[in-house]
Amino acid sequence: MSRPAHFPAVRELAASMASGECTSVQLVEDCLARVRDVDPGVGAFLSVDAEKALEAARASDERRARGAVLGPFDGIPVGMKDVIAVKGEPLTCASRMLENFTVPYDAHVTERLRAGGLIPFGRLNMDEFAMGSSTENSALGTTRNPVSADHTPGGSSGGSAAAVAARMVPWALGSDTGGSIRQPASFCGIVGLKPTYGRVSRYGLVAYASSLDQIGPMANSVEDAACLLDAIAGPDERDSTSWREAPPAFAEAAARGPERPLRVGLPKEYFGKGLGAEVEAAVRGAVDTLAAQGCEVSEISLPHTEYAVPVYYIIATAEASSNLARYDGVRYGHRAKEAADGIDLYFRSRGEGFGSEVKRRIILGTYVLSSGYYDAYYLRAQKVRTRIREDFVKAFESVDVLLTPTAPTPPFRRGEKTGDPLSMYLADIYTISANLAGLPCMSVPCGLTEAGLPVGLQLIAPHFAETTLLQAARLYEGSRLS
Ligand code: GLN
Repeated sequence: MSRPAHFPAVRELAASMASGECTSVQLVEDCLARVRDVDPGVGAFLSVDAEKALEAARASDERRARGAVLGPFDGIPVGMKDVIAVKGEPLTCASRMLENFTVPYDAHVTERLRAGGLIPFGRLNMDEFAMGSSTENSALGTTRNPVSADHTPGGSSGGSAAAVAARMVPWALGSDTGGSIRQPASFCGIVGLKPTYGRVSRYGLVAYASSLDQIGPMANSVEDAACLLDAIAGPDERDSTSWREAPPAFAEAAARGPERPLRVGLPKEYFGKGLGAEVEAAVRGAVDTLAAQGCEVSEISLPHTEYAVPVYYIIATAEASSNLARYDGVRYGHRAKEAADGIDLYFRSRGEGFGSEVKRRIILGTYVLSSGYYDAYYLRAQKVRTRIREDFVKAFESVDVLLTPTAPTPPFRRGEKTGDPLSMYLADIYTISANLAGLPCMSVPCGLTEAGLPVGLQLIAPHFAETTLLQAARLYEGSRLS
């Protein structure tokens, strides 16, 4: 098989393997060659264990020869964000704190991939501990946007988005706490899906903000994303927030399409001040496309939207300050070489191991949880979070899905926002609310700016309605490409 200029749909890859046109070893070799040729200019991968991937590919080819494949995607590699545990591989979270850590167990999603014969491939760059929107907070090197090398790929799953967009892997897993799958997907011109909170187990995902984190697929098409979601979704008793019920067949439902015309709501707060003109034009164009497909479009209101960014940056930092307490150089993580005593060891280890954005968030989170400030900040933020959630529940009484821009601007330039954390936080303005409400949502490419930079639209559906979400996305994608 010649090296692909781009990957065909994953179903086609699977069909070529089934018909004997190509093998898993060839596919993995293609990915390795592409990483070798293209990644020096992109920086998506922190590492790739070529021997392990090839070993898994050989095992897959042997299964196929015996007529014992484990599932439809046996032998296909999946890029892994470096925050998801793969036994025996590094798990750095792009932090000096975990630079030399090898993880002794598989995440639930990794087990699920392996159970279907899929091959975890490489460790993908990200903002340190998933805190950021540009992959520039990585302590282990930055990632460029494969569409335009002067621009960031977004973040925090920037490595995953760039690897898929640059066709180094057919698809990848990312994680999303406040937009980290959708915003980089939008910036790199690919599809990214954050499932309903609880749909995918967080066991083996390094915790940033546990009440918001979800793992999800990043892919070249809605169908591919649905197939990867099928592979990873489902109950797991090791995550107490994992939803007990077995998930529906997502790819099948997406292919079937909606049974009746979809009612699409446009939240007016997402189309106001701060939205870039070219992004707005592309998203409104998508609305027209869906209307031409028979969707009923109406304007709705999510009145508490303006509080989403402050509420998120209180709740996420509070949870992070608690989750990151374990990295103290004793239980986990980088340990300072010299220290006067135990307390000094903690100070030095954490001081040396964490980057400045992570420190900023730990300090902020500790502050909002501290005695005297807890009620004023943390408790109040939780109350507003409930209001934000109620806004969505009310909106979904009259519409099936919401459509918004994914990010207020096209990809920004490298270095453009690194000196101003607040302006970086504001880049998350449209993605954060769905995490606060726990809703399934995705970003789908909806065109390019005049300069050729990708624009993404965001779809948001009710809890556990990934099927509707995928059907809406597929309808749009299908009418756009036809
Ligand atoms: N950009 C947001 C943050 O920095 C979201 C990150 C994420 O989803 N992991 O917190």
